Amino acid sequence: MDQSPNTSSYILNLADRCVKCGLCLPQCPTYALTANENESPRGRIALIQGWLTGELSPTSTLTQHIDQCLLCRRCERVCPSLVAYGEIIDQSKALLNEKTNTRFSIPSFISNSSLKLLLNKNFSGILISTLRFLQKAGVFALAKKSGLFRLFGLQRLTAYLPELDKQVKTKSFYPAANTFKGNISLFTGCLSKQLAPATVNASIKLLNQLGYGVYVPEQQVCCGALHLHEGNKQQAVTFAKTNIDIFNQQKDITHVVSLVNGCTSQLREYPQLETTGSFVPEVKDIIEFLADAEWPENIKFQPLDKKVALQIPCSLQNILRAEDKLLSLINRIPNLSLDTTYNRCCGAAGSYFLRFPTISDQLKDQAISQLNQTSPDLIISSNLGCALQLKSGLSQDKNAPEVIHPVVLLEQQLIQ
Ligand code: SF4
Ligand code: SF4
Repeated sequence: MDQSPNTSSYILNLADRCVKCGLCLPQCPTYALTANENESPRGRIALIQGWLTGELSPTSTLTQHIDQCLLCRRCERVCPSLVAYGEIIDQSKALLNEKTNTRFSIPSFISNSSLKLLLNKNFSGILISTLRFLQKAGVFALAKKSGLFRLFGLQRLTAYLPELDKQVKTKSFYPAANTFKGNISLFTGCLSKQLAPATVNASIKLLNQLGYGVYVPEQQVCCGALHLHEGNKQQAVTFAKTNIDIFNQQKDITHVVSLVNGCTSQLREYPQLETTGSFVPEVKDIIEFLADAEWPENIKFQPLDKKVALQIPCSLQNILRAEDKLLSLINRIPNLSLDTTYNRCCGAAGSYFLRFPTISDQLKDQAISQLNQTSPDLIISSNLGCALQLKSGLSQDKNAPEVIHPVVLLEQQLIQ
């Protein structure tokens, strides 16, 4: 029997590890919203088993239950049988795409169009520059009202855009600014330079201060996570091969350091894509790398007397399992009053906020009200998608706390 991934028998083998104990159900955001077994991890596994054994047809209802999974992987964290839930869903979506034509829908067509525009390296720069121009010229709101964005399927995407700063034009290399410890290459993801330039700049600065030279390979491409989660495994594999080739070319680096938790997770899981090669340098998230680094005695931070609510992204928590590293990093800033009680999915989930706006908005509203419970001055989020989701939910509130990346906060407090 063919046991290569993306075959029925491979997926069934993974799914058969599930003993149907149900311990994952209380962790699942979609089950919590619907109380529907089909919207739970156990239910989705049962649907996939039914489909792959021929007992169920892959109807649009069945595939919608699979698609509505956020891939937050909270279920994996508690599963006593170590079911590889994320891999089951990704491989099943790829197989569904290959075998059925039930997956086309208007919402997915629209979300895919706007995603494609944004993820196309050549087009995203033009798109973001145009939107920045509209913001600066004060006609962004007018364009929104006029229905122009709706015409291009961009209305929801534009609602998520932050105040756009000038895109960072990175150099190919930034030398260490302290006793030299080594060189690393930065994986910026496809949108950080446009949508989070402060995170890119702050990361380079801190790495240099710690004694690391930083390469930023211009030819790097998207990590492929969004494509994989949409069932487009072929495109994800192409991206993986390109990134592995590019980062392996740099012979004098110890690590690939990735700026977005979701991208880091994807880079780490490239082996699941059956790529022909693998990264020679170790892949680490910026949070992990900074938390594990040896900090020179001369690096100190200004105390900050502020209330801070921590949003721990699902990818950092359930895939990288590095929430303790985020905490140790943030705690380098003296006097912070940290609220770490919020522990849910915010509903951004890659392209999910475009495809399933109702569920995504419900989860966003829950996240905002819980994060706001202690009336924080700041909300910290280390994942770009989560930060944009929270910012969009707070955009109407004039007194809303600022949403900030932990590395940007560290850099702001750095004593020069
Ligand atoms: S916790 Fe694991 S074994 Fe139990 S029902 Fe959920 S996926 Fe299956
Ligand atoms: S990945 Fe998240 S949304 Fe999907 S079944 Fe698991 S807990 Fe539920």
